[in-house]
Amino acid sequence: MTHILAIDQGTTSSRAILFDRQMRIRDSAQEEFTQHFPASGWVEHEPDDIWGSVVRTCRSVIEKASLQPSDIVAIGITNQRETVIVWDKETGEPIHRAIVWQDRRTSGICEELREAGHEALVSEKTGLLLDPYFSGTKLKWLLDTVEGARERAEAGELLFGTVDCFLIWKLTGGKVHATDATNAARTLLYDIHKGGWSLSICKLLGVPVEMLPDVRDCAADFGETDPALFGESIPILGVAGDQQAATIGQACFEPGMFKSTYGTGCFALLNTGDTPVRSKNRLLTTIAYQFNGKPTYALEGSVYIAGAVVQWLRDGLKIIKSAPDSLPLAQSADPEQNVILVPAFTGLGAPYWNAECRGAIFGLTRNTGPAEFAKAALESVGFQTRDLLEAMEADWPERDPNSVLRVDGGMTANDWAMQFLSDIIGASVDRPEILETTALGAAWLAGMEAGLYPDRAGFAKTWSRERRFEPSLEDTHRDEKYAAWKRAVAATISA
Ligand code: ADP
Repeated sequence: MTHILAIDQGTTSSRAILFDRQMRIRDSAQEEFTQHFPASGWVEHEPDDIWGSVVRTCRSVIEKASLQPSDIVAIGITNQRETVIVWDKETGEPIHRAIVWQDRRTSGICEELREAGHEALVSEKTGLLLDPYFSGTKLKWLLDTVEGARERAEAGELLFGTVDCFLIWKLTGGKVHATDATNAARTLLYDIHKGGWSLSICKLLGVPVEMLPDVRDCAADFGETDPALFGESIPILGVAGDQQAATIGQACFEPGMFKSTYGTGCFALLNTGDTPVRSKNRLLTTIAYQFNGKPTYALEGSVYIAGAVVQWLRDGLKIIKSAPDSLPLAQSADPEQNVILVPAFTGLGAPYWNAECRGAIFGLTRNTGPAEFAKAALESVGFQTRDLLEAMEADWPERDPNSVLRVDGGMTANDWAMQFLSDIIGASVDRPEILETTALGAAWLAGMEAGLYPDRAGFAKTWSRERRFEPSLEDTHRDEKYAAWKRAVAATISA
């Protein structure tokens, strides 16, 4: 009994990662699955694809590592957040495809609720905004649209779950209907202050509370896998949504610590300890993790386009062959030019939350070429991060502006982008040895609960830095550059 199996169920693929007793990655398996776009702005997944890919990757990684199921002490789950699945309690049959977090179909419902004056109540209880991003209005849409769904839900025949919950239910052979507090906190149905489903919001959205799962700590007993799946029962002992799992994997356990993940988009979380800080700058208040029934809160900000801007250089502009080429190209840019790219390809996320505006580029001259575009693209990621950090500081003035930012995700491989990030936020940026922080977070939760891994303080000590980036820009230069970015964003929004 020496390994922990982490399931990382993401938006485009499912992964299974085996960690050994020393929390090192032993092996992993990955499988992509089909994205369905049935209408403009709609995104769906087939629940069977999610489930099938999870089971196959788990079996495959156990086999690859030449282990027996009995070598696995426990399973930890981390997952794409907010995505909604509703299924029949008896047959397990989903009533519809999963509606994915990116899906915008409920913007009309959100608008109506806002016009009817409900946003204050929803924000107060959940820490979120009335936005289609979150699960609640997606669930309402399913109950309103799928024939007979609401009646069946009221009769106790249907169950709701985010992806973690659906996987727990399937893995336990339908025995456990539970989620963890971090996933619950993204549903728009959960009162993050009281720590329970909000009956008033359920009523507002017409959601029968009987269909909602039991909410547990991140490290807790979520049941055991059906022995028919892997040949033996394996306990599920850890669960957290992907960004929270990354926060845990980065050991951001003290108030004031924060991390930023640079994948397709960018997600920054700031640990605010016992205090659920209410944002005045359109950040989200969320649960970072929950142990022993006690939530630790976070302020969260996300931007839609981070690594995706590098994909655009590659696939849209075709000025690089692969993502790492963006580094030498940006490095060769003319330092005299101040080209600014606002990558609002799908609008702007926090703190602007503007779905309508589209991208723009400023400062072009006859000498502007691919190198300046590449530089502007990488810089846009730093600027957007500073936007999030400024909003966090305004919301939570106790934060020490000199605290170090811990980063992870595919784009952090780019040293030039990380140096610019440090320059523009004016603080140190730490890149850890283990970049798989999301899976590590899930594995640690399960391993700690099983007694295999160290406790929180012990785990925090194991976090190790691969490289620190220190700010090297003068303050005046930094402020000028950032002011130019703010003007560019204002112009983009008003265009
Ligand atoms: P996700 O989990 O969202 O798929 P990953 O963490 O795998 O994202 O990161 C992939 C993203 O990182 C891609 O958008 C890619 O463009 C970007 N990326 C990867 N390597 C580099 C690099 N060396 N320089 C810049 N961007 C990179």
